[in-house]
Amino acid sequence: MDIAFQNSGCIDLHIHSTASDGSFSPLEIIEAARKIGLRAVAITDHDTVDGSAEALSFSHSHSIEILSGIEISADFPRGTMHILGYLIRVDDSDLRRTLETVQDARAKRNLKIVAKLQELGVDIRYDEVIEVSGGGQVGRPHIAQVLVHKGVVQSVDEAFKKLLRKGGAAYVSRYRLLPAEAIQMILRAGGVPVLAHPFTLNAKNETELESILVDLKQAGLKGVEVYNSDHTPEHKNRYERLALRHGLLLTGGTDFHGTAKPGVQLGIGKGNLRIPYRLVEELKKSIVKV
Ligand code: AMP
Ligand code: FE
Ligand code: FE
Ligand code: ZN
Repeated sequence: MDIAFQNSGCIDLHIHSTASDGSFSPLEIIEAARKIGLRAVAITDHDTVDGSAEALSFSHSHSIEILSGIEISADFPRGTMHILGYLIRVDDSDLRRTLETVQDARAKRNLKIVAKLQELGVDIRYDEVIEVSGGGQVGRPHIAQVLVHKGVVQSVDEAFKKLLRKGGAAYVSRYRLLPAEAIQMILRAGGVPVLAHPFTLNAKNETELESILVDLKQAGLKGVEVYNSDHTPEHKNRYERLALRHGLLLTGGTDFHGTAKPGVQLGIGKGNLRIPYRLVEELKKSIVKV
C-alpha cells in the first residue's frame, strides 16, 4: 500500500529535530511528513522551541498543519519525567527566559559528563560532541554518538547502559524545573501541558502512576501521551484508561529522532502507529475553553 495513503489523516506530535537530539532539520522533517501524508505534526525538541519556531515558519508554504511544541525534562528523582507542551506561543518572553536557564544548566552538565568520561580514561573532547550536535541543544545522545564513532561502545544504547544512564559511571545530574514549574510555564505561554511516555516515570504499578497523574493534574496537566513508539499495547490501554478516568486529553507521537534513534520512523514509529487527527481537534478545543 502507498505510504502516503496509509498515513492520510494521521498525525505525529512527538518529533525531535537538529535543534536538540534529532538528526534531521525542521525543514527536512516537514517535507518528509508531507510526503508520507501526515495531516498535522509538532516538533517537540528537548528544552528548546528553536526547531518548532523554524518549522512554523514553513506553515504557509507546506500543505500540512504545524503545531508548536516542546519537551521539557522535569525534576523527578524516581524516574524520568518529560512534559510536552503544545500550542505554546514560541516567542513568549517568560518561556524564553526560563528555557535559557535550563539550557545553561544542560551545557554545564554536558561539560561535567565529558570531564567524568576523561577521568574514566575515555578519549573524548567537548568540541567533538559539539560537532556531532550540529549546533542545537547538546544532549547525552550526542555524547553517546561520539563514543560509538570512537569505538568505546558498540551502540548508543550500550553508551547509555554502561555510562550515561541515571546512576551510570559518567552520569551527572543537573538543575531541572519541578514538574509543576514546567506545567505552569507551558500554561503561561498559552499552551497545553501533556505527560510524555508515562512508563519512564518507573511507577511500580497502576495505582502509583494514577496518584502521580492526579498530582500533575492538580498542578495543571491537561493530557497524557497515550500513543508512543515505545508503548506496548498494555501501556497504551492503561494510559488511555487513566486519561479518560481523569478527564485528561489523549495525545500521541513517534518520538522520532531520525538516525539518532534507529527503528523509529516518522508517523508510524516501529511500524504500526496510526494516530488520528481528532486528537488535534481535542487539543485545540481545550485551549478555546480556557
Ligand atoms: P538529555 O536530554 O541530554 O538528558 O538526554 C536524554 C535523552 O537521551 C532522551 O530524551 C532520549 O532522547 C535519549 N535516550 C535516553 N536513553 C536512551 C537510550 N538508551 N538510547 C538512545 N537514546 C536514549
Ligand atoms: Fe531525545
Ligand atoms: Fe522524552
Ligand atoms: Zn522525545
